[in-house]
Amino acid sequence: MTDKKKPSEWRLATRLVRGGTKRSEFGETSEAIFMTSGFRYDAAEIAADRFAGVAEGFTYSRLSNPTVAMFEERMALLEGMPVAKATATGMAAVNAALTCQLRAGDKVVASKALFGSCRYIIDEILPRYGITTELVTGADDDAWARAITPGTKTVFVETPANPTLDVVDLAKVCELAHAVGATVVVDNVFATPLLQRPTDFGADVVVYSGTKHIDGQGRALGGCILCSRQFFDDHLNQYLRHTGPTMSPFNAWVLLKGLETLELRVTRMCENAARVADFLAESGRLARVLYPGRKDHPQHALAMRQMAAGGSVITVDVPGGREAAFRLLNALQIIDISNNLGDAKSLATHPASTTHRSLAEAARLELGILEATLRLSVGLEDAQDLIEDLDQALCRISA
Ligand SMILES: *Cc1c(COP(=O)(O)O)cnc(C)c1O
Repeated sequence: MTDKKKPSEWRLATRLVRGGTKRSEFGETSEAIFMTSGFRYDAAEIAADRFAGVAEGFTYSRLSNPTVAMFEERMALLEGMPVAKATATGMAAVNAALTCQLRAGDKVVASKALFGSCRYIIDEILPRYGITTELVTGADDDAWARAITPGTKTVFVETPANPTLDVVDLAKVCELAHAVGATVVVDNVFATPLLQRPTDFGADVVVYSGTKHIDGQGRALGGCILCSRQFFDDHLNQYLRHTGPTMSPFNAWVLLKGLETLELRVTRMCENAARVADFLAESGRLARVLYPGRKDHPQHALAMRQMAAGGSVITVDVPGGREAAFRLLNALQIIDISNNLGDAKSLATHPASTTHRSLAEAARLELGILEATLRLSVGLEDAQDLIEDLDQALCRISA
């Protein structure tokens, strides 16, 4: 007889469907939703032991909950990291992963091209508490080398970046950071856990918005922080316990179901995105088409070293500025105008007036977010229908 395999030895698809499942006394097939804020104890001694940390068991859902714990264990198995902690949103994950380890006098270095709210934390919130922040052009290796100095405590990177799809050389940045004793936090939302494993390149902490591909069906908000046991013990554990950015058990259940189909969905989205990107680039009707999976992406070689595929997001510039960009959005018949991404439904966004509107115009232009720029999150529809939708909309704006 062979030994029973550990979940960490299962292949990816099996971990996504079964990892972390804990059955109750009823033997349910689908994971149960433990919609409870607290837990009761058979004896006062048991409560005392759990609070003293000498006995295992749940005490209060701000700290942990069985449904949330199942999601966390499945995420840890997926990422191949020792600890996963779920949060209410992706932004709660980013904020906690940074703030838990920082104090006044520390310096943070981050890539310039970031999700709008991540930029707000770096530009506006951290400096209020005496933390120095410096932004770097993500593609410029020399700029990283100049910015990461002995006082640097943490480096924050998003790759590919939203919405410019700039790619950061993770191995190089991690090497520079570790040489000065800094930790590296990677926002891996655009790549998804399936296409890129930041820890393979040296990252210390990985954060996700579960709202994007992990749910992937536009239903629930959520986030996740993955890290080493040491980082959890030294920084994250007490911070999360006492500040409470906790995920609801119901949302954890929705995201658990999302993980079961994540591989199928991300694979199809990437295939669809590659076809749509080729159509848009070959149509010759756009001023710029950016997709990391295409050879004409300025950092295609680096993207393909770090990522298993080009991802599900395409960024384009429409000839003619905001007015033309809006006309294209308004002419779409299948693709929705929306600001989410990673969804089963294809969604198109005008970043300058929505997700990135809080950035000053000069900062937006420096990043390459123009009035003409649109971000397209490619979903699970038939790629040919998406191509025909974009084709008719492009015909209408040039008419
Ligand atoms: C959406 C997103 C976030 C924030 O996630 P929420 O779940 O909306 O809070 C952070 N980073 C990136 C790259 C994102 O796309």
